[in-house]
Amino acid sequence: FSEISVKDINELAKSSFPLCMRHLFEKLREDHHLKHGGRMQLGLFLKMHAAINLLDIFVLDTVRDWILGHQFPWYTVWGVGLKLDDALLFWKAEFSQKVGAERFDKEYAYSIRHNYGREGKRTDYTPYSCQKIISSTPGVGDHHGCPYRHFSEENLRAALSKMGVNSRGVEDVMDKVQNRHYQLACTLTFEAVHGSSCDSGINHPNQYFSDSQKILQ
Ligand code: SF4
Repeated sequence: FSEISVKDINELAKSSFPLCMRHLFEKLREDHHLKHGGRMQLGLFLKMHAAINLLDIFVLDTVRDWILGHQFPWYTVWGVGLKLDDALLFWKAEFSQKVGAERFDKEYAYSIRHNYGREGKRTDYTPYSCQKIISSTPGVGDHHGCPYRHFSEENLRAALSKMGVNSRGVEDVMDKVQNRHYQLACTLTFEAVHGSSCDSGINHPNQYFSDSQKILQ
């Protein structure tokens, strides 16, 4: 299990976030604000699930490694590894530049605690899968969704170049997008950016992150 702190997010976004999360992160930095759909998609991706936190504290390393060695796709639950206190710091640092610290505390902190299961029904929500993100319907001013499905061709080409995908790679990705194979397009991007194959294909943003970290560490 990994735990990250606010200062790690910049580097991790550049090296290991899939395009959907890089885009949200960049927009948050630019606008110091994200609408509800974006806050949910990025916030759940970044979080550390409370159960994982408890397992990390109370379970012996050997037992933990045994659990991890089994085929359950843990990335669908655990998130990138940002604990609640750090998540509040992270969101507040951006939002307070736009709406002020007081309004952040009144209007936005609740929903972040809610995502971590500390408010309302106390459900510890898990990060969204690609399928859920691809089938979402972002409106005007929204930045959530899957760029391979929801970006214009021009914006997607520019975003891929910015990630370091070469022109041949961009054409291969666009070919998948035109055939509506969005997750295959994301898999090709992963392979181009990491110079390494991804045989299982991308089916979850947190899998993208976790596979990337395995290659880079
Ligand atoms: Fe994100 Fe999945 Fe779309 Fe890739 S395919 S950008 S991980 S939603």
